Amino acid sequence: MGYQLPPLPYPYDALEPHLDARTLEVHHDKHHATYLANLNKALEPAPDLLTLPPEELLKDLSVVPESIRTAVRNNGGGFVNHNFYWEGMAPRAGGEPPAGSPLALALQEAFGDLSVFKEKFSAAAVGRFGSGWGWLSVDKQGRLMIHSTANQDSPLSEGLIPLLTCDVWEHAYYLNYQNRRADYVAAWWNLVNWKKVAERYTEAC
Ligand code: MN
Repeated sequence: MGYQLPPLPYPYDALEPHLDARTLEVHHDKHHATYLANLNKALEPAPDLLTLPPEELLKDLSVVPESIRTAVRNNGGGFVNHNFYWEGMAPRAGGEPPAGSPLALALQEAFGDLSVFKEKFSAAAVGRFGSGWGWLSVDKQGRLMIHSTANQDSPLSEGLIPLLTCDVWEHAYYLNYQNRRADYVAAWWNLVNWKKVAERYTEAC
């Protein structure tokens, strides 16, 4: 009963040297798994909600009884955000969005050069005070936007459609990078699964 933890889509060591195997193991098997366990526990009094994809709960938290809403916001966000984060990375990835893809064209229109986009996204991720996430999302008008969220908050709860995220909780990078969040974000660009991000954009529009 309850939502299930998807396996990591690649081996623990597949993202080295940018992210080490131990970080991925603890991040997925402990942190991510704990958000899921706490989400399932929170939903015990409202099992009907388990028929919905967890993203739907975050899109409209008002469907969640008030007594468990904060727990679902935090742990449901933690569950969904991490699924999204893992899928947005891949071994031997990085580089640029597929040439000529709708995503590549939209990024060019919104930000000009890709390096400008990366600089602005990095600034949002590195500048998020405390724990949270950096995002590229599509807003209600269909425009690309760079933003960040605190804690485990999801863009879905703000009516946005996320395309790409970088986890900037210390647990995502501390073993490799200690306090050097900017170095982690700089290395993380080598892992971005642009093919997946381009698919998400096409689905969103
Ligand atoms: Mn995390």
